[in-house]
Amino acid sequence: MSCSFNLTHYAEILEAALTGGYRFVTFDESPEPGYLFLRHDIDLSLDAALRMAELEAQYDVATTYLLMTESVFYNLASSEGASAIARLRELGHAVGLHAVHPNVELDERFDPVVSWHNPSAEYMSATIPGATNVYAEPYFDPATYRSDSNQHWRSGCPHEELRGGGFSWLQILVHPEIWAYEGATMGLTMRSMLNAEKARRLEQLANDGIDLG
Ligand SMILES: [Zn+2]
Ligand SMILES: [Zn+2]
Repeated sequence: MSCSFNLTHYAEILEAALTGGYRFVTFDESPEPGYLFLRHDIDLSLDAALRMAELEAQYDVATTYLLMTESVFYNLASSEGASAIARLRELGHAVGLHAVHPNVELDERFDPVVSWHNPSAEYMSATIPGATNVYAEPYFDPATYRSDSNQHWRSGCPHEELRGGGFSWLQILVHPEIWAYEGATMGLTMRSMLNAEKARRLEQLANDGIDLG
């Protein structure tokens, strides 16, 4: 098995976790042996988030999607944003806020769960009134945390340990953009995403009545 960052290997990771006996849970539960908190911070692409969400639903697992209201890359208040949230809910996933510090406005679209976008150490793990901070106790502990940031697992791809039940419990951060678009490095993956984005933008322009002739 090669640990590529694509949806094929992502599915293998899900299978490994299921084989290892892990239970996929959301942040309304507290860590217990065998629990797997799989979370997605959506920085760049709702399309990538939806592709990953559909794949997870095929494996009958529920994960947590944290969406931005202040992204420069997508507009959660648009019709696309609203239908993305509706689809995530329909598939059984939790939806929380990927917040830009210090703004935490939890309206009715969100469960009370927050992850900070590009946090700095001074506030990262602080308590957030009225919400669960995924970087705070009891959810965050470096020994039981894995992240794919910048297309790199700092402690290695977790599939082997998941299959063998090697973690007591685990929180994993997976960015869908890295897996939904192909590329051997983060830079190449981002270029694939931008190519796909161009086609999508052209379609949006046509739908908006723009003459592209
Ligand atoms: Zn792997
Ligand atoms: Zn982020």
